[in-house]
Amino acid sequence: MSGEGERAHRSRFDPLPEWIGPSTRLVHAARRPDYNAGAVVPPIYQTSTFHYPGPFSEASERSRAYLYTRIENPTQEVAAEPIRALEGAEGARVFGSGMGAIATTLLGLLRHGDEIVALADLYGGTVDLMSHLLPKYGVHVRWVHQDETAEPESCVRPGTRLAYIETPTNPTLRVLDIERWARAADAAGALLVIDNTFATPLNQTPIALGADLVVHSATKYLAGHSDVIAGAVAGSTRLLERIDAAHVALGATLDPFAAFLLARGLKTLALRMARQNENGRRLSAALRDHPAVRALHYPGFGSAEEEAIAARQMRGRGGIVSLSLAGGEHAARQFLQRLRLVHVASSLGGVESLVSVPAETSHRQLNAEELDARGIDRGLVRISLGIEDTDDLLRDITEALDGVAASVPATRD
Ligand SMILES: *Cc1c(COP(=O)(O)O)cnc(C)c1O
Repeated sequence: MSGEGERAHRSRFDPLPEWIGPSTRLVHAARRPDYNAGAVVPPIYQTSTFHYPGPFSEASERSRAYLYTRIENPTQEVAAEPIRALEGAEGARVFGSGMGAIATTLLGLLRHGDEIVALADLYGGTVDLMSHLLPKYGVHVRWVHQDETAEPESCVRPGTRLAYIETPTNPTLRVLDIERWARAADAAGALLVIDNTFATPLNQTPIALGADLVVHSATKYLAGHSDVIAGAVAGSTRLLERIDAAHVALGATLDPFAAFLLARGLKTLALRMARQNENGRRLSAALRDHPAVRALHYPGFGSAEEEAIAARQMRGRGGIVSLSLAGGEHAARQFLQRLRLVHVASSLGGVESLVSVPAETSHRQLNAEELDARGIDRGLVRISLGIEDTDDLLRDITEALDGVAASVPATRD
C-alpha cells in the first residue's frame, strides 16, 4: 500500500488512453496481463500470504510485491482500480463491507476531541457508528437536518474536522449541492466525505466537484448482483495512507473471492446503470399521478432548486424511486403483497428489483418524531429498480398500485 513505486514485482495496471469513456474504462481498467501470465481475466489470488523473495532483510522487504492478504492482495487491487478510475481519484481501496470502509475511513482520519458534522439522514449503519461508537473515542458528532443542508456554510464551522453527507438521500432522494458543500468544507478547513453508493460514479463524481473522499457500499450497484458484501474508498494518496494504517489494524478485509465478484460486477456497471437510470426515469414519470400515490420521491423532484442542482451534478438520476402511499401503512402492506416481480427485501442496487418499507427496515430504530423529521411515513415504500424490462416493472408496480387504490379508497387523503 505504501511505497508502491519501489516494489519490483508490483507491475502497474496497463496505461489506457485518456480519451476512453466510462464503459470502456470499466472493462479495461484492471488490465495487467504481464503480471497475470497473459490471462484475460486476472486469477483469484486466493491466498492468505505471499513468499518472501529471500531471507528477511531490508532488500527483500523492498523487493516483495505483497505480504499478507489482510493488508494487500492483487485481486483486491483488480477490484479497486476501476473504482479509482471512475471516481477520478488518485487511489482507491476495497473493504469487506461498506461499513468496513466507512468505519476504517473515519477511525483512520479522526482523533479524540475532533468535531464532525453529519447529515441526520445518513444510512442507518453510519448513523449508529457516529452516534454510538465514535463518541466513545471522543469524537463529537453534530447532526444537521435536511432543511439546513441548503446552506452548508452554516453547517460546517471553523474547527469542524470533517463533513459527511450522502446525496441523493435515503429514502426520500433529496439532492445536496456537492460543489457548495465542498467550498464550505474548504473554507472551514474540513474534509468532505461523500457516500456515493446511491448515485455511483456513473451518475455523479464528487471528487471532481471538490469532495476529498468518496465511500461506497460496493455491495449495492458496484458489485450489482446482490451476492457479495463489499465496500470501497477513493481519494488522494495522502488521505488513503492514513486510512491504510487503520485498515491494517481493523482488518475489514475483502476476501479475494469476493474481490473477484466485485471486479466482475464492475465490468457491467455502465450497462446496468443505463437501464436502471432509464427504469427510474420512466417509472418516476408514470407513477407520479397514480391515485394510490400521495408523493413520489426521485432526485430533483424535491424542489426547483434541487432539480437545478441535480441537473448540474448528476448525469443520471438513478434507479431508486420511493412512493409515499396515500393509504399509509395498510396500503404499503397491500402493495408489497400484490407485487409479483419485485421482491420484498432490504438492500438495493442489484439486477433484480427490490422493495422495502424504510420505517420497518432501514429506519426502524427511529421514533415517530424522527421519522416525521425525515419525511418518512409508514406508507413510504422504497423501490430499487433492477435491470428487468421497463414495461414489465411498470406493469407489475402499476397493477399492484391499482389494486391498492381499489381496496383502500377510504383512507386516501
Ligand atoms: C448499504 C449501505 C451502506 C453499508 O454498506 P454494507 O456493504 O452493507 O456494509 C452504507 N451506505 C449506504 C448508502 C448503503 O446503502
